[in-house]
Amino acid sequence: MNKGNILIKNASEVVTCSGFEAKTGKEMSDLKIISDGAVIIEKGIIKAVDKTDKVLRFFEDTNNYQVIDASGKSVLPGFVDSHTHFVFGGYRAEEFCWRLSGISYMDIMQRGGGIINTVKATRAASQKELYNEGIKRLNSMLSFGITTVEGKSGYGLNYETEIKQLEVMDELDKTHPIDIVKTFLGAHAVPEEYKGKEDKFLDYIITEILPVVAEKRLAEFCDIFCEKNVFSIEQSKRLLLKAKEMGLGLKIHADEIVQLGGAELAAELGAVSADHLLQASERGIKEMARAGVVATLLPGTAFSLKEPYAKARYMIDNHCAVALATDMNPGSCFTESIPLIFALATIYMNMSVEEAISALTINGAAALNRAETIGSIDVGKKGDMSILEFPSYKYIPYHLGVSCVEKVIKNGKIIFDKER
Ligand SMILES: [Zn+2]
Repeated sequence: MNKGNILIKNASEVVTCSGFEAKTGKEMSDLKIISDGAVIIEKGIIKAVDKTDKVLRFFEDTNNYQVIDASGKSVLPGFVDSHTHFVFGGYRAEEFCWRLSGISYMDIMQRGGGIINTVKATRAASQKELYNEGIKRLNSMLSFGITTVEGKSGYGLNYETEIKQLEVMDELDKTHPIDIVKTFLGAHAVPEEYKGKEDKFLDYIITEILPVVAEKRLAEFCDIFCEKNVFSIEQSKRLLLKAKEMGLGLKIHADEIVQLGGAELAAELGAVSADHLLQASERGIKEMARAGVVATLLPGTAFSLKEPYAKARYMIDNHCAVALATDMNPGSCFTESIPLIFALATIYMNMSVEEAISALTINGAAALNRAETIGSIDVGKKGDMSILEFPSYKYIPYHLGVSCVEKVIKNGKIIFDKER
């Protein structure tokens, strides 16, 4: 019956985050809130957003619309989680405990832990198994108000499994209401069979996998783990330039553990985003700001690994667009929890609640090249939003670690309802 037509009225506030491009500096604090707000979504697209009385004045046809009275509730754009590794085989709970007991990363690797553990399990998993696990994780994300998620390959490190991961995401995108944006991360680590032959491995990726990914449009972005003892700046540049040539957008895992110059490289190559950035140089941050590269910060990972947090305050004050994401993955940060990310960003990274909201909505969309179609409640954008069980967005970090989302609407349809 519902064709994607919804009228939300009497909301205590509609947090629109209005805009069609990444927000920087003080813009990140301006959420463009409409009190006593209403939203009309028609055939999945936002048709009107304004004060309730104004919207209702021009709206007669209530029969064809599902009407939601959002009295005492806040309405926000759907969250955009722009950095995850959510399709993987196996789990690493044992390794988490090893880490807690102080065992070093090198020792964990020797015990068979680390990313190679996930690579083995992902290679061994069938497409169906990865799909079934993927559905569960997407359902969990949905309950936190996530309506678009980015997912990376990178647990195959060979042709067969990299393609398998991307195809699973394709399948999930078709069947699950959450939109999935796919990133090829074949250069996530060096597989055992290429140990000490990093350049040979990159040749293999560039000649054997990347062309197929590009030609079959299996991914929109190409990413690389640019880090000391993984892939150097030169190697990262070589792969990313090829990817750009083949029409993919660029992302970089940059300056997480060592200040290697990943931020500068992202600016030089015109990457859409550079991610992690715990050790990014001030020069690199300023160059990213100038080049319009989104800084995607992943405080859940810093928290879980007891790393220092990225300099969000410095980035925002220097007009670099900041996005926040979960980095959901089986090793360093196994979480879909948006409230956890809010808590870490506001308590440990000196971001205001308003900045954190911009970072998880419009700037998350910008980190996926989608600021024109999602990430805010603007006429013409997709009808993706959530209704909180509280009257203000300020409850999100205040209700520590617990989701305040009551309903999630995707393309004008209610796809999650806590009350049901
Ligand atoms: Zn990552």
